[in-house]
Formats: sequence, C-alpha cells, structure tokens
Amino acid sequence: MGNPKAFLTIPRQEAGYRPVHDRIADFGEVEQTLNSGERRLQASRCMDCGVPFCHWACPLGNRPPEFQDALWRGKWREAYEILSLTNDFPEFTGRICPALCEKSCVLQLSMGEPVTIREDEAAIIEAAFREGFIRPGSYPRNGKQVAVIGSGPAGLAAANQLNRRGYEVTVFEKLEYIGGLLRFGIPNFKLHKPIIDRRLHLMEQEGITFKVNSEIDLNCLPEGFDAYCVCTGTPQARDLSIPGRELKGIHFAMEMLAQQNRVLAGQTFTKDERISARGKHVLVIGGGDTGSDCIGTSNRQGALSVTQIEIMPKPPVGENPDTPWPQYPRVLKTSSSHEEGCARRWSLSSVRFLGKGGHVSGVEVEEVEWIPDPAGGRPMMTPTGRKETLKADLVLLAMGFLKPELPPLPENAFVAGDAATGASLVVRCIASGRKAAGDIDRYLRE
Ligand SMILES: Cc1cc2nc3c(=O)[nH]c(=O)nc-3n(C[C@H](O)[C@H](O)[C@H](O)COP(=O)(O)OP(=O)(O)OC[C@H]3O[C@@H](n4cnc5c(N)ncnc54)[C@H](O)[C@@H]3O)c2cc1C
Ligand code: SF4
Repeated sequence: MGNPKAFLTIPRQEAGYRPVHDRIADFGEVEQTLNSGERRLQASRCMDCGVPFCHWACPLGNRPPEFQDALWRGKWREAYEILSLTNDFPEFTGRICPALCEKSCVLQLSMGEPVTIREDEAAIIEAAFREGFIRPGSYPRNGKQVAVIGSGPAGLAAANQLNRRGYEVTVFEKLEYIGGLLRFGIPNFKLHKPIIDRRLHLMEQEGITFKVNSEIDLNCLPEGFDAYCVCTGTPQARDLSIPGRELKGIHFAMEMLAQQNRVLAGQTFTKDERISARGKHVLVIGGGDTGSDCIGTSNRQGALSVTQIEIMPKPPVGENPDTPWPQYPRVLKTSSSHEEGCARRWSLSSVRFLGKGGHVSGVEVEEVEWIPDPAGGRPMMTPTGRKETLKADLVLLAMGFLKPELPPLPENAFVAGDAATGASLVVRCIASGRKAAGDIDRYLRE
C-alpha cells in the first residue's frame, strides 16, 4: 500500500460521461477515461482494509486492494495479472458492472466516496491490451471435448476456463453473432462491440471453436462431447396482457434494442420491420436497467419525448435503511440515459392500451398504493381509482424476463448464468460460468 493517507487528501474523481449534447448524437460509448496519472491517484485512495468488503461484495472475488496497490505503484502488468486471476473479462465488467464492490467499499461508509474500483479495472485491462501484456496462451490438451451452448458472458467464461484446463471447447450459438446480451441487449453506448470481438479473437487463437447460427435442441444434445455447459440465458421477456396488446407499435424492449445493435453492425431492415423512435412519443413500461437502455436508444433515434413508468414506488434517494452498507443499496438510480432526457413516473399500473387505426396512441394507467406487509413480506398493491392517459405512439415493454424451464438434462450437463438463476448481471454470469467450468472439470476427472 503506497500512500496510506491518500483517501484523506484525494477526492474521488470519476471520469464522467461525454456531454449530453455530444453523446446523444451517436451510439459511441458515453463514458470517458482519466489519464494514467489521475488513475493512479485514484487507486492510491484504497486503504487496503483488513477486511476488504469490496472483495466480499464481488461475485468473482476480485481483489481490489491488491490490484490497486500495483496500479498506484505504476506496475500495470502486475495489476493486470492480479485482476485476470479472478475475472476472465474485466473489459466487460469494467464498463458495465453496477460495481457491487464500490457500494461495499469502506470509503463509501465513511465518506460516501468509494474507490473508483470499476474504472480502475477498465483502465488496467485496456492498458494490458494496449501494452501487449495479453498474448494468446497455449494449453496442453487432455483429449476431452466439452460443448458450451449459448455465448453470453456465462458461456464465454465457462469456455475460457475449460479451454485453459485443456478441454477441446466448442461454443454453439443460435444467433449470427457471438456474445449473447453483451452483443444484442446492451447498447453500444454502454459497450462498444469491437471490445467483444477483441476478446473473441484471443479465445479463438487459444483454440476455442465458435459456431454461430447453431441452435441446439436441449432435448437432444449433440453427440461426441464428454460434457455440456448450458448457458442459454433468459430469452422470454415478461409480457403485459392487457386490452389493446395486439395494437401495432407495442414491442418488447429486446426487439428494439437488438435491432438497433444489428443496424449498427451494418444490417438493414425494411421500413416495416424497423422499430424506430424517430418523431415519436415513447413510453417505456418498466423502471429497470433494460428500460433505461430503451430511453438512451430512443433519444438517439430522435424521439419527441420519452416517459418511463414503473409499477413499484419510487425508491429512496441517497440511502435506504432497509439495505444498509455493506449491502447493495436499493435506491433511486439515475443512469446516463436518464440524464439525457426522460420523464420518470412511479406507482403506475397499466390498465389498457388505446389505439387509432390499429396503432397504439396511448396507455391508460392507474395510480396504485403499496401497503407495507407487517410481516416484512412484499407490500400489497392497492388500486386508487385515479386514472389518466399517457400519450404514446411507441411502447416498449421492459418488465423483466421469465426464468426458463429447462428440459431434464443428462448428468454430464451443467447449467450456468441467467439460465440457472433467472435474469441477473454480467459479473454474476461470469462467476457462474467459471464455477460450472470447475464443476465440469471435477466431474470429468472423477
Ligand atoms: C437490455 C439489457 C441490458 C443489460 N445491461 C446490463 C448491464 O449494464 N450490466 C450488467 O451487469 N448486466 C446487464 N444486463 C444483464 C446481462 O446482460 C445478463 O445477465 C447476461 O448477459 C446473461 O448472460 P448469460 O450468458 O447467462 O446469457 P445471455 O447473455 O442471455 O446469452 C445466452 C445466449 O444463448 C443463446 N442461446 C439460447 N438458446 C440457445 C440454444 N438452444 N442453442 C444455442 N444458443 C442458444 C442466445 O442466443 C444467447 O446468445 C442487461 C440485460 C439486458 C437485457
Ligand atoms: S473496501 Fe475500499 S478502501 Fe477498503 S480495500 Fe476495498 S477498495 Fe480499498
């Protein structure tokens, strides 16, 4: 630990986002970077706590005190080596992780200014690629074959770990590109897609085979493999079965987000196929992160207005006594997309879609109240009778995903990522893929 008192004199400095007027004109990444001197100063703020809660909070068990100490000392290669011991893809989590570690950082508790762990992680991995610390490795083969089904973060982490343990790995992906929701869910303004390609290139050089346009029937797994890792995600979005659902102009969030990413990858769509917010009043139903991505995408497409509604009440601002430190706080989140312009409303239940000429023109909503359950369970929703109509000519449904029901699988098949847990986070999926790789390795060695 280089400077034990740095946290007393150096304030937290975030790189921040590009200015709104600039960033909404394109789909480039919104987040900026610090120079390497400023970055090292940020790393110096780490107190190397006796009990590092950042480490406790990270699903991957990342070791922030160790890699930040190396970073502060200017030992970028050493920082990379520490980071890559626990995280296969810091270039993804360094960009899009909600940073559970930072919410649990002791400096969050003591002064509300946690160490910039996520940004430090991104800086380390980018330096590692730039400086050529990362070279394709070669791993002795053990003669066994594993099929990974699904190429999101869980499948990629499992494949990476299995390949390094000597297994011959084939990744099967039903879509035309590798990456799962990294590729087709998460907008480019949060994760630039060449970042995924750079990692895939390395994985291919290390011997992993990727097969796109290859949907696997989970009832009939392909022959010739010693084990399988099923990482098929949560493909089914939650629907809203209210009157008027059949009207045109109502889409699942993923239909719009995936299409926009495909357009940016060079694919073309007819006017009828294209889902665009240009010149429209957009209503996003669902107050979570997917909804937030719809807002950012709609504004970039040229929406006239964007409104996001949520059935649950507005979360507390700042702190929430129900989720005290070091827990992840359930508080109001304002994303870069929210900053770019949208109205946000809470405690609104959607009653029916209204239409004109077969196309949606608005949504009737009703205010609801949430009565706390004295037993500590989920609060009870009570309609208030106060109804209103929100104007909308494009409605995006962002109400989460259903946990999939997988068919019975043979004992040499292991499930990881969202397919195992329900919709989650990239960092949890990488951790789950790594764990599944370990389980497969143990199974095949026994
Ligand atoms: C819009 C959106 C934004 C998000 N933003 C963030 C964020 O900012 N930060 C964060 O941490 N998390 C975010 N998440 C969550 C995160 O993306 C997911 O938790 C994570 O990608 C799930 O990883 P996975 O590997 O389990 O599955 P997925 O990423 O869903 O990948 C599963 C893959 O399996 C393929 N597949 C399915 N069935 C088959 C089959 N039978 N044969 C072959 N292939 C098949 C699918 O085509 C898909 O490519 C976001 C999610 C969404 C929807
Ligand atoms: S909790 Fe914060 S200050 Fe303590 S070791 Fe982790 S990153 Fe450093």
